[in-house]
Formats: sequence, structure tokens, C-alpha cells
Amino acid sequence: MAESLSYTEKLKKWNRFEVEKFSKKAPVTTPYPFIDIEKPPEYRGIPHINPEKCIGCGACVNACPPDALILEWDKEHGVKRLTFNAARCIRCHRCVEVCPTGAMEPTNIFEIATDNKEDLVEVVEHKLAYCEECGEYLDFTERQIEYVKAILPKEIIDMYALEDRIGLTQEAKMRKTVEKLRETEGNAYPAFILVKKGGEE
Ligand code: SF4
Ligand code: SF4
Repeated sequence: MAESLSYTEKLKKWNRFEVEKFSKKAPVTTPYPFIDIEKPPEYRGIPHINPEKCIGCGACVNACPPDALILEWDKEHGVKRLTFNAARCIRCHRCVEVCPTGAMEPTNIFEIATDNKEDLVEVVEHKLAYCEECGEYLDFTERQIEYVKAILPKEIIDMYALEDRIGLTQEAKMRKTVEKLRETEGNAYPAFILVKKGGEE
């Protein structure tokens, strides 16, 4: 005959039998944090910037959904600063996917509790490239320029022209182009190309 018990009685019974049955075989908790936890290999933890590999391109900054990564330019001191705040990180690893140099390294670290929030911040500073013509710092880092020169296919790129211009501000590039045209075409190109707002050359 089927057992007819109230819900409360059933619960009590289930508790007594199930706990007795499973308590010794299958613990539902572990002694963490006194023992290390084994993470699945695909677990996405807090990433880390390898300053040796980073070129300061900012691809990770553009990809980061919660703005855990930011870029700042300090042109007075010729510095580009990449800051990573692990407290904002949602561990999506978009930064790892887009980083062209492998500088954004994945980890499976998930414990970030601290009593000092500065512990959660990583800063990498890069030297900005300097335009010899204008005497101004560019938006690019020296490492970005070196990286671009290294990866461009030399068979199809005029490396001489690239070397000649890659380290210049936009204005210096334009000036150089016009000077070159004047040299080659015997002043055939009009000076209006050089005229800026206000009519100054
Ligand atoms: S893992 Fe995601 S949230 Fe964290 S820094 Fe990278 S892109 Fe930003
Ligand atoms: S994408 Fe990679 S190389 Fe570029 S700034 Fe971020 S960490 Fe550095």
C-alpha cells in the first residue's frame, strides 16, 4: 500500500535517510580556503599585462566592456599609460583575444579580495615616439612603431618611405609631402596646400 505522509513528514524522512546515505560518501563542501581548489583548464580568471610584450596599442582598451582598461597620454613627459583595474574586470578575456602581441596573458586566478584597492591595479608606461621635425610627441609609442615596421611585408611596402614618415606628426608629413612635390615638379604645385586656417603658411 502506498505510503501516505504529509509534506513535512516526507521532508523529515528524506532528510534522515538521504543524509545518512550520502553524508559519508559525498561531501558537499571542501575545506577551501585551507586547500587549493582545482580549476577547470578553461576557467577564465583575472588577466595580467606582460610589460615586456606590451606595445601600448590600446586594442585591449577598445575591446574591454566594463572599462577595466584605460589609456592616458601624458605628452608633457612623453608617456602613454595603460592601466588595468582588476576590480572592474568581468573576466571575459576579450582583451586576451585582441592583443596583437600576446601581452595580455590569461590566468585562472579568481581570488582578488584585498584590504588595499591599489593591489588590484596594474600600470604599464610606454615612451611616446617623438617627431624630430615638429618637436612634439606623437600619439604612438616607440614600441608601436617598431612593431609595425617588424610586421609589415617588406616585399610590398616601400620601407624607405615608411621610415621617412612613420615618426612624424600629421602636419610634418604633409609639409614633407609638399616639399617633395615642389622639389620634383619645380614649384609646379601651388602653395595653397601649405596654407592653414588664418592664411598662415
Ligand atoms: S577580461 Fe574582459 S573585463 Fe577583464 S580586462 Fe579583459 S576585456 Fe576587460
Ligand atoms: S592590446 Fe596588448 S599590446 Fe596592446 S596595449 Fe593592450 S596589452 Fe598592450
